[in-house]
Amino acid sequence: MSSNIKITRICQFCDADFTARTTVTKYCSHKCASRAYKQRTRNRNIEKSVAETVQVISVKKIELQAKEFLSINEASELLNVSRWTISRAIAADRLKAVRMGKRVIIRRKDIDQLFT
Ligand SMILES: [Zn+2]
Repeated sequence: MSSNIKITRICQFCDADFTARTTVTKYCSHKCASRAYKQRTRNRNIEKSVAETVQVISVKKIELQAKEFLSINEASELLNVSRWTISRAIAADRLKAVRMGKRVIIRRKDIDQLFT
């Protein structure tokens, strides 16, 4: 669509002044338009990836919360503390744990007990 109007606008990508032929032109050049498009696509992909990661983490948390018995690793993930912190709590008798062979098993109930 061509028109006779000329409007000075500011490019939304490079901030340069330019003369637009329509009231909806956002960019000074095809280059800026395609760069802006690329940036939008990139941002969308980043947002999508972040959302997926958040979802995976929360699914994992829900699974951990549903488990009756946990390893030190799982307990540390559930509480968002290091494995070392869990081990210290066990060593200090603040958290009950049972050693079974090479594995240390913690009851979820005992983790909940920490907060009562
Ligand atoms: Zn521009």
